[in-house]
Amino acid sequence: MTAKDLIELGNSALFNTYNRGDKLFVSGKGVYLTNSDGEEYLDFVSGIATNILGHSNEKIIAAVSKQAATLMHISNIYWNKPSIELADKLVNYKGAGSLEKVFFSNSGAEANEGALKLARKYGREVNGEQCSEVITLTDSFHGRTMATLSATGQPDMHKDFQPLLPGSKYVALNDSDALKAAVNDNTCAVLVETIQGEGGINPLSDEFVQTLKELQADGLLLIIDEVQTGIGRTGTLYSFEQFGLGPDIVTLAKGLGGGFPIGAFMATDKVAAHFNPGDHGTTLGGNPLGTAVGNVIFDEIIDAGLLDNVAARAEQLNAGLQKIADKTGAIAELKGLGLLVGIEFKDGVQAADVITACYDEKMLVVGAKHNVVRLLPPLNVTAAEIDEALEKFGAAVGKAGKQY
Ligand SMILES: *Cc1c(COP(=O)(O)O)cnc(C)c1O
Repeated sequence: MTAKDLIELGNSALFNTYNRGDKLFVSGKGVYLTNSDGEEYLDFVSGIATNILGHSNEKIIAAVSKQAATLMHISNIYWNKPSIELADKLVNYKGAGSLEKVFFSNSGAEANEGALKLARKYGREVNGEQCSEVITLTDSFHGRTMATLSATGQPDMHKDFQPLLPGSKYVALNDSDALKAAVNDNTCAVLVETIQGEGGINPLSDEFVQTLKELQADGLLLIIDEVQTGIGRTGTLYSFEQFGLGPDIVTLAKGLGGGFPIGAFMATDKVAAHFNPGDHGTTLGGNPLGTAVGNVIFDEIIDAGLLDNVAARAEQLNAGLQKIADKTGAIAELKGLGLLVGIEFKDGVQAADVITACYDEKMLVVGAKHNVVRLLPPLNVTAAEIDEALEKFGAAVGKAGKQY
């Protein structure tokens, strides 16, 4: 069957929920993907901040093969060794602060669902049953399930799915006064990303971080969604380490599986103690196969020193992007932290046009809101691969922003 026939079949058999165009990739190695015509593309999307060791990583292949041949799934009514080992690593990592317990899920949305349930139960048991509201920020993204869609501060995404979960409240990103005014006896938690990923690579301001700390000191739970920023993407295992925050609950997913589906939420002992048998569960979350991969990811990031590579490659990438900005005049702002990089374009340059121009250069990049293009290379990307990316991206920006 030709690629064209296969895509036609896909269009007839799969929901029409993504604009995949004519892109059909059949294999990957490292930072490259190969399409059905045998053409190679430089992949700076990484499955949306997910394949942090690149494609077909030897250590992941070995771990998956071995674990699949040993024990793939047994449910959570029994202990399994890889999940215990991974949880132990996550809580004992020094930057985790006082996060002392882990619950494994299958995805980011599920991790956030669990975090929201935990916050509600904590609020009810500590402050009374009225205490169930969670405040989130405009332009945030927390997932596609009903509770996480309700938490996502993007009205465009809500309109066809009303009514939302009661107790969903939004304040503008970095508006400290609005946040303080929104908190009352009904508020059990505030849920934030340190840097909004889907929302356009928007970081929390210093002042807002300070406000979050003050509210937390007054008893409000701080939940940080590290689904995109976590697991080394920003240069530390958790991005909150660089913001000086100590959350009560943290959620993880994307990078944790290096391409294998897994998610997790972590909490302090004090908060986690409010979940007892029967309060939360999942059939497949924390299965031996997913957590075996998670162990490989963690060991590579921490023991193999991948965080140093993130810092060095981020510096190289940003220096090159600054040159492209100077040369083309088409870039309004360079944003992001570590290898979560956002390029905001000036009015008149469409992110979609840059993405298409990159595709023509055989490079994959992904958009975010507000005219931002995201670069999300694997964390083990090499200096030579960054140079290649800069060359391709520079050519693409030159074309898409030629009016500047
Ligand atoms: C991707 C993402 C999610 C949702 O994760 P899924 O695995 O797609 O459910 C939640 N929060 C943030 C910040 C994300 O980037």
